[in-house]
Amino acid sequence: MSSVRDLMRWRGLPLGVTSAWGETELQFGEVGGGGPGVLITAGIHGDEGPWGGWAIQKLLARLNADDLQGFVRVAPLANPLAMQADKRNAPVDQLDLNRAFPGDPNGSYTERIAHILASEALDGIDAVIDLHGGGSWCVNAFVFEMAGGGELSRCFPAPFIMPAPDRAVSLTGYARSLGKTVAAVEMGGRSQFEARWAEKIADGLLRALCHVGVIVDSERAPPPIEPPLPVADSIVLRPSLGGIFVPAATAEQIGTIVAGGTLLGQMLHPATYALLEEFRAPYEQTALLLLRPFMAQLEAGAMTYVLAQPNSK
Ligand SMILES: [Zn+2]
Repeated sequence: MSSVRDLMRWRGLPLGVTSAWGETELQFGEVGGGGPGVLITAGIHGDEGPWGGWAIQKLLARLNADDLQGFVRVAPLANPLAMQADKRNAPVDQLDLNRAFPGDPNGSYTERIAHILASEALDGIDAVIDLHGGGSWCVNAFVFEMAGGGELSRCFPAPFIMPAPDRAVSLTGYARSLGKTVAAVEMGGRSQFEARWAEKIADGLLRALCHVGVIVDSERAPPPIEPPLPVADSIVLRPSLGGIFVPAATAEQIGTIVAGGTLLGQMLHPATYALLEEFRAPYEQTALLLLRPFMAQLEAGAMTYVLAQPNSK
């Protein structure tokens, strides 16, 4: 039996810009019918790149048409110009798509995408899963929990889970304000383990489709997982001076807990390589939610680590 990957109905809505990839469209794929309906998006932030879309493809390859009771709609390339530029936001207007909802049909490029996602993409949808980072410069290992969406988030085999900020201007925040069940996934990204993480995300998506009822045969779900560990007090570490970043914590350590004081990475002077600054684990038990696994030149203030501690409450 063929996978639903071969049965996807694709349509492209023009975005009114041309780019290195030609006429730029917002592409939607859909398979199945009736209800319930799930929307899966990826690439809202361009530097989170193709990893989310890749996980969607891995999901579709594992689904048969007979599995579906409702329908699945996907938007794997939600922000084409930002992905081409390998930037969080599209250079053409520099707006953060995940702060632009519900958008504006007559607005700039990013505002028009938000409008299309807020109207056409959410039409008939019961649950929204938004795939974010890691990406081209970081690896991530957590899921966000939003009000009413805890069970959906716990479908994903992420090491950590933490509450999401409540922002109606994000895709998931806006969808939640319309009464939809939502989850945002922050897993994977560029490293030697990128394929393994994409498979984990695909596992989570399959489990989520069973949870929502788009797949009726519960035996199609991957085996149950250990629930993600709740964490709190998340902080972002950023260099106070620009320079050369050299990691100490590796891609193998993302999603683990390290002892307080553990060296995570260093900032060095770009010419002399003198030590400018060290990043160390701030909590007695420090959960590694986001790290940079590779050397890089960094500007002052660049997001370098996201850390938290186990939630004792
Ligand atoms: Zn993102």
